[in-house]
Amino acid sequence: MSEIDILVQNGLVVTIDDRQPLIEDGAVAIDRGRILAVGPTAELAGQYRAKKVLDARRKAVMPGLIDTHHHFLQNFHKGTRDDLALLDWIDQVSVPRIKVAVQDYLNGSHGAQLHSSRLGCVDAIRAGITTILNMEWATDPCVVDVFEQAGLRVVHTLTMTDQWISPEVLLPHATLYRLADALRQRCAGSTEGRVTFRYGLACPNSCSVPLIQEVRRRADREGVLIHIHIAETEYEWRNIGELFGATPTGHLHNLGLLGPDVLGAHCIWLSDADIELFARTGTKVAHNPECNMKIADGAAPIQKLLDAGVVVSLATDSCAVNDNMDMFEAMRTAAFLQKLTTNDPRVLPAPVTLRMATLEGARALGMEQEVGSLEVGKKADLILVDLSAAHMRPLNRIENNLVYCASSHDVATVICNGRVLLEDRRFVALDEEAWVGDAVAYADARFRQAGIELPSYFNLFS
Ligand SMILES: [Zn+2]
Repeated sequence: MSEIDILVQNGLVVTIDDRQPLIEDGAVAIDRGRILAVGPTAELAGQYRAKKVLDARRKAVMPGLIDTHHHFLQNFHKGTRDDLALLDWIDQVSVPRIKVAVQDYLNGSHGAQLHSSRLGCVDAIRAGITTILNMEWATDPCVVDVFEQAGLRVVHTLTMTDQWISPEVLLPHATLYRLADALRQRCAGSTEGRVTFRYGLACPNSCSVPLIQEVRRRADREGVLIHIHIAETEYEWRNIGELFGATPTGHLHNLGLLGPDVLGAHCIWLSDADIELFARTGTKVAHNPECNMKIADGAAPIQKLLDAGVVVSLATDSCAVNDNMDMFEAMRTAAFLQKLTTNDPRVLPAPVTLRMATLEGARALGMEQEVGSLEVGKKADLILVDLSAAHMRPLNRIENNLVYCASSHDVATVICNGRVLLEDRRFVALDEEAWVGDAVAYADARFRQAGIELPSYFNLFS
């Protein structure tokens, strides 16, 4: 009998691996951060002696959820955005808060980013997210410390922009590139390689042609991947059309930006030719159904993208436009929205949607060899989902129950890189109340100091 770190046993194992999709009374053996075996409990329990045994009775065992587009700073924005059009909201709500983060960065104090990241990490882990792409402004490399301490897998993406948006939040090109270099180096040396770096062009409106071209050159030279909001609004569609005589997708393609190393967020305003461009260049998509509905930006043509062979992943975008990090809700909404807008209930069946939040998410991030499914040799990123509540029962078809009935509150246990972060709904190492409480107290004081109006109950728990 060989000794291993963790044995998860007695669970209903949903592997997202076509070779053995479902194992009843199944087990996952974990050692040194990786999955050593996946199979029936009777088999694995006789084979391994584990330092820690996790009982998954009445629980689904599945890959950790992968959120491919998020902005941690906006975790401070919950409840701020109703009833404002995108441009008004950017001016009135988002920019004043981003300004705080940029000023903090320039003053060498990084409280806004550190605290919003702590708040976001707690939220993400509770929601069963084990890998998240965080696209963020002016983050000093010290923010990577937070991701390392939290235990999550993070694709940290520097927001780069040089026009259109308020000049107070813009950094000169030289500063942006210096910061990108510092972040890239810091992420390359991150604990267990859990944090990786990506270039983040904000969107075609807010990035000049020289910035887009320089990021492409740097990405090619350094082998770093690119993230960008693409075709999110009708405004962008019209504006890029007027300026360049092209669709936003066509414009980026003309500049040589699109490619298999590019992940586009939203991708709503796409012509059939644009979809063809996504397919031909191997550009990938992060679909944010709830954000798109809340801002009334439109419904992305997900089924058409899938039909064309494009990799489509799922995301929550942020707590400013969602306003939660519930990937189960994102799955359910993605399926419903696509069924509604295509008038076809057959599109996005539950197993396809479940893959979008797991294996396709990994693919969108170029990490499918490492995460996204429960397969031998992959990193041990998995969650245990409680199936005992009334809203989950009976279990007619586990994939459907997970997509249509479950919520993030059903997540009981979270393991990332072979380390238990949350066990039976309790954080193992992280001091949840300190992380959340300190974050909100910081935002309370800092935002008031910056002249942002907040209700007296903003920090009710102080
Ligand atoms: Zn976004």
